[in-house]
Amino acid sequence: MKLKSLTALQLASLIKNGEITCVDAVESLFELAKNNEYNCYTSLDIDGALSAAERVQKNIDSGVFNSALAGVPVAIKDNICEKGRVTSCASNMLKSFVPPYDATVIAKLKAADMIPLFKTNMDEFAMGSSSENSIYSAVKNPYDTSKSAGGSSGGSAAAVASGSSVIALGSDTGGSIRLPASFCGVCGLKPTYGAVSRYGLIAYASSFDTIGTISKDVADSAALFNIIKGEDERDSTSLKSPDFSYDSIKASDLGGVKIGMPTELFDSADEDVRAVVSDCAKALKELGAQVEEFSFDMLRFAAPTYYIIACAEACSNLARYDGVRYGYADKSAKSVDELFVKSRSGGFSFEVKKRIMLGNFVLSEGYFDEYYKKALGAKAMICDAFDTAFKRYDLILSPVAPTSAQPLGDGEILKKYKDDAFCVLANIAGLPALSVPCGSDGEGMPVGAQLIGRAFDEKLLLKVGYAFEQSKGGAYGV
Ligand code: GLN
Repeated sequence: MKLKSLTALQLASLIKNGEITCVDAVESLFELAKNNEYNCYTSLDIDGALSAAERVQKNIDSGVFNSALAGVPVAIKDNICEKGRVTSCASNMLKSFVPPYDATVIAKLKAADMIPLFKTNMDEFAMGSSSENSIYSAVKNPYDTSKSAGGSSGGSAAAVASGSSVIALGSDTGGSIRLPASFCGVCGLKPTYGAVSRYGLIAYASSFDTIGTISKDVADSAALFNIIKGEDERDSTSLKSPDFSYDSIKASDLGGVKIGMPTELFDSADEDVRAVVSDCAKALKELGAQVEEFSFDMLRFAAPTYYIIACAEACSNLARYDGVRYGYADKSAKSVDELFVKSRSGGFSFEVKKRIMLGNFVLSEGYFDEYYKKALGAKAMICDAFDTAFKRYDLILSPVAPTSAQPLGDGEILKKYKDDAFCVLANIAGLPALSVPCGSDGEGMPVGAQLIGRAFDEKLLLKVGYAFEQSKGGAYGV
């Protein structure tokens, strides 16, 4: 059995039919993962996963199937808390942090009889676009190990792309699911802000943070999204979203769907990327959708707005790591002040410290109006521009990023910030967005198309993504 190329729904049906047990599935995945070839894992707790699998298998043996993905192991980005398992955020600060509770998404996976399996590597505190800012060192792209897997959920994307995980959870604050999904040729869903509870997700920028799915194909993302979504009393920003089954997204006719292509995003992309995503537009037209270009003059504001607000929120969220309550504490400190300084200096790496400094700067008296307040104004403008666009279109199609995967070690940090612009637009406006593989560049590296939808309309995103994927003959690379 080629477990490596099975989708989560395919594996679930084999488990349901008794052709494989979930205990065997966990063991086989461990065999594929244990050498950590692409450095996509931060920890591989096989014993914990096996005992969870044994529990789930008992339900399955007695004919109880608690979800469409019952029995399927799922990899978890290492910033999502799971009781009793180290959740490090790829940071020295939390290297030995063992959460005393489950994140709501983990509780939902367990209730659905899915098996949380292995924690995936990432940029420290989810700050980055290449999964290189990690105390466990960089994740490698399975298509070319000299290239980045994208970030910050690069571990989850590389794990799914290389087949050592069937499906995974990631987090997306400004593209961290979609960018690695695009770079690794897998499918990534960033849900509407609030559709999935953030309780137990280690906070980066709370008004943008979302938890979403990384999978081999669109139907898997739909099935997993349905398991993790929902209002949660522990996250006051969470909301109930419409119910739909993963089967209901299976359309092949897109008649009546209006899709807009923002000219500015296509113009700013590399030629190869532009060509591949334009082909995707053609395929959508052939499926019956109405597709046209329109001007969306917001791209130039996207990265500055995002980075000002994200850093402001990050500096406040990360103030809790002081060496007193939990996380890394420098034992050599002789006073409380020294404990704060030494613990934070030793616990955080350069990129995180830089963002804390930037955040404090934009919030400080004298600069607040000039930066933070202006960024909030720009955010409102971007939201208005989306509202206007969605009066004409049901979906917006663009490349996920201006380029395909970049070489590891590329130190051009400002370029990386700017290249996030295509993705951060959806986070700024809180909208759902899907990254779906649509081809490859001249060097054979995967390229993803991004579909952005109206708030809480994940169903249409997934439907269009599914129809496109099927028109290309199924999931890319599987
Ligand atoms: N690359 C962006 C950043 O560094 C987005 C990260 C994310 O989505 N977590 O902030």
